[in-house]
Amino acid sequence: MKINPTFSSMIREIRENSLKDREHSRRIVHWVEDHRLRSGAGKALVFILPTRGCSWALSKSGGCSICGYIYDNPQQPDFDIMLESFQKILEDTIESEWEYSLKLFTSGSFLDKKELPLEIQKKILKESSKYDQIKEIVLESRPEYVTDAVLQNIAENTEISKIEIAIGLESANDDILQNSINKGFFWDDFVKAAEKTREKGAKIKAYLLFKPPFLSEYDSIQDILESVSKIVELGVDTVSINAISIHRGTFLSQLFEKQMYRTPWLWSLLHLCREIKEQYPDLRLICDIVAGGSERGAHNCGTCDKDIIAILKEFTVTQDSDILDEEIKCSCKTEWKGFLFSEKISNSEMLNKY
Ligand code: SF4
Ligand SMILES: [Zn+2]
Repeated sequence: MKINPTFSSMIREIRENSLKDREHSRRIVHWVEDHRLRSGAGKALVFILPTRGCSWALSKSGGCSICGYIYDNPQQPDFDIMLESFQKILEDTIESEWEYSLKLFTSGSFLDKKELPLEIQKKILKESSKYDQIKEIVLESRPEYVTDAVLQNIAENTEISKIEIAIGLESANDDILQNSINKGFFWDDFVKAAEKTREKGAKIKAYLLFKPPFLSEYDSIQDILESVSKIVELGVDTVSINAISIHRGTFLSQLFEKQMYRTPWLWSLLHLCREIKEQYPDLRLICDIVAGGSERGAHNCGTCDKDIIAILKEFTVTQDSDILDEEIKCSCKTEWKGFLFSEKISNSEMLNKY
């Protein structure tokens, strides 16, 4: 059993209530940003394709306790419109002097046939292959959709070595996956998907979630360090640490509204990047901060937030660990250290309530 039935039913109830207000937009969202490709500095062209959304979030499990992406997906996607605008955006956006990483996100799983039928996956990949400037293609997926048939389809329609499959592993600890996130898969499932992907010649990336519900900041730091060591041992060469941001209509949002959860400190992220890069200098380490500096995202005291976010962003693009050693002085650093211990104690009291 990979879910905790009590936890899962709490999440489902919140999900069902929030799904009633689901949006219907079928518009493709896209943007271009600076990005570190394997070959050096370049651009990322990011797409959020309007599919029906994550099957896990729509299932009876209620989906992940932290995720509200499903509320932005349309209920009835139109693949003709999607393909037409995808084609047009590529034509209008790709510039000959840049190299690109194409990120094809769906707020779910690109490889899930219920979100994107194989034929549509094929057309999108074929279209992308027309552009020499596209050197990397990132596809997000849960591990259960990384099957031989799907990988074969990719290999037949694009250069498989350009592909990176990004999996939201969140943690390598099964207890956290089950009782904190309601992820619905375990570490072993990730390992199988990673091995299959690499056998086919594609690359794999793992997202780790910094500070899921019920974990104190201190314990989440330990969990990220332990997870990274397992992931590196497996031969995965890119890890993205995603600092939590609070999505509305989620279990986590309810904890936050009851003042039972504080979003992570930026000091912790700086500490994590330093520790990881020191131990694994060759690992491509990404630190992704959404809503940084706000109450619903990773933040410090408000005075030093911008400086730390700028350092973490620059480090992610350059991978230069010297940037992390830049000295930042702010009185909230002492507060952060005290918080690491006091929260651990109050969290153990909170856990007794669930
Ligand atoms: S985190 Fe990923 S798997 Fe979980 S509900 Fe959101 S999109 Fe689905
Ligand atoms: Zn500060």
